[in-house]
Amino acid sequence: MSILVTGGAGFIGSHTVVELQNAGYEAVVLDNLSNSSKKSLERVETITGKVITFYENDINDRAALQKIFKTEKITACIHFAGLKAVGESVNKPWEYYQNNIAGTLVLVDEMRKNGIKNLIFSSSATVYGDPAFIPITESCPKGICTNPYGWTKSMLEQILTDIQTADPEWNIILLRYFNPIGAHKSGTIGEDPNGLPNNLMPFITQVAVGKLPELGIFGNDYDTPDGTGVRDYIHVVDLADGHVKALKKIDEKCGLEIYNLGTGTGYSVLDIISNFEKVTGIKIPYTIKPRRSGDIASCYANADKAKTELGWKAKYGISEMCADAWNWQSKNPEGYQ
Ligand code: NAD
Ligand code: UDP
Repeated sequence: MSILVTGGAGFIGSHTVVELQNAGYEAVVLDNLSNSSKKSLERVETITGKVITFYENDINDRAALQKIFKTEKITACIHFAGLKAVGESVNKPWEYYQNNIAGTLVLVDEMRKNGIKNLIFSSSATVYGDPAFIPITESCPKGICTNPYGWTKSMLEQILTDIQTADPEWNIILLRYFNPIGAHKSGTIGEDPNGLPNNLMPFITQVAVGKLPELGIFGNDYDTPDGTGVRDYIHVVDLADGHVKALKKIDEKCGLEIYNLGTGTGYSVLDIISNFEKVTGIKIPYTIKPRRSGDIASCYANADKAKTELGWKAKYGISEMCADAWNWQSKNPEGYQ
C-alpha cells in the first residue's frame, strides 16, 4: 500500500515518512522543495533502510499528479504541502491562498478522478482563534484567524468538509496540530527554518548554538501564571505517529473526522527556557519585548478524542522535546546546508 505524502521533505513530513516506513507502508513523496531539502529524504532512507519514491513537483501541477496516480498504487494521501510562515502570509496573501487553497483543490480533484478518496489534512490549532475555552476540545467553535495562513487552514477545513458531505465515499481526517517541536532521536532530521526563525524552539536552539545573540520574549503581561504565552508543545515524532494511527482510522471508512494532536499540557515561554537550560546545561539569554501582534495568551489541547478513537497518545515529555531539538541543532548548526 503506497501513501502519497505531499510536503514529505519538510519538517513534519520527513518525520512522518519515517513512521510510515517503520509501520510497513510504502511512501511516495511529492514536494516542490520550496521550503525543504532533498537531503531530509536521503537521511530518512538512512534511518529506515528503505527507499522513498520521490517526485519533485508542485501540488498545483495536474500533469505531475496524473502521472503519479497512474504510476503508483496510491491508496491515501497525507497532505502536508503548504506555505506556513504566519508573518509572510500577511504580506503575501495571494501567494498563500494560491499555494495552499488552489493547490489543495487541484490535489483533491486529481485524487477523486483517480478514485482515491482517502485524505489526512494538516490543520492547526490556529483555527480555534482565541479559543472559547481551554483545554480545547474538537467541539470548541472555530474562531477568527489573525492572518491569511490561519485562514487557509480554516477555509480548507470547510472546503474538505463540504466535499466529504457531497460525496460520502471520501474519508477525510483533519488533524489539528498544536505546537510541534523536537526532532528524530538520531539527530539527522529536524526543523530547518529559512532565515530568522518565527517559532520559539528553533529560535532558542539557534541562540544555544551561537547563531543568534538572545531570545526576545513576546510579552510577559498575559493572563497566565508567569505572564508569558502558554502553548501545548508536542514532540514531532508523536505527531508523526498520529498520522499512522489516523491512516488506520481511514481504513475503517470513517467519513469526516477531526482530531486535536497535542499533549494536553501547557508550558509558558519561561517554562520552555528553563526546561531547555536544565536538559542542555546551556543558558539562554533573553529580553522581554512587546507582545507579537495576533498572539493569544493560552492554547492547549484536550486530546482525549484522539486517545479514545485513534488509540493515540503523546509519549514524549518536554525534556525529550528539548533534548531532541538540541541534538538536531547541535549536530546540524546550518540545518541541511
Ligand atoms: P515545512 O515547510 O517544513 O513542510 C511543508 C513542505 O511542503 C515543504 O517541504 C515545502 O517544500 C512543501 N511545499 C509547500 N508548497 C508546496 C507545493 N505547492 N507543492 C509541493 N510541495 C510544497 O512545514 P511543516 O512544519 O512540516 O508543516 C507541514 C504542514 O503542517 C503544513 O501544512 C503546515 O501548515 C502544517 N502545520 C505546521 C505546524 C508547525 O508548527 N510546524 C503547525 C500546524 C500545522
Ligand atoms: N515566542 C517568543 N519569542 C519568539 C517566538 C515565540 O516569545 O521568538 C512566544 C510566542 O509569543 C508564543 C510562544 O512563544 O507565546 C509560541 O510561539 P510560536 O511562534 O512558536 O508558536 P505559535 O505562535 O504558533 O503558538
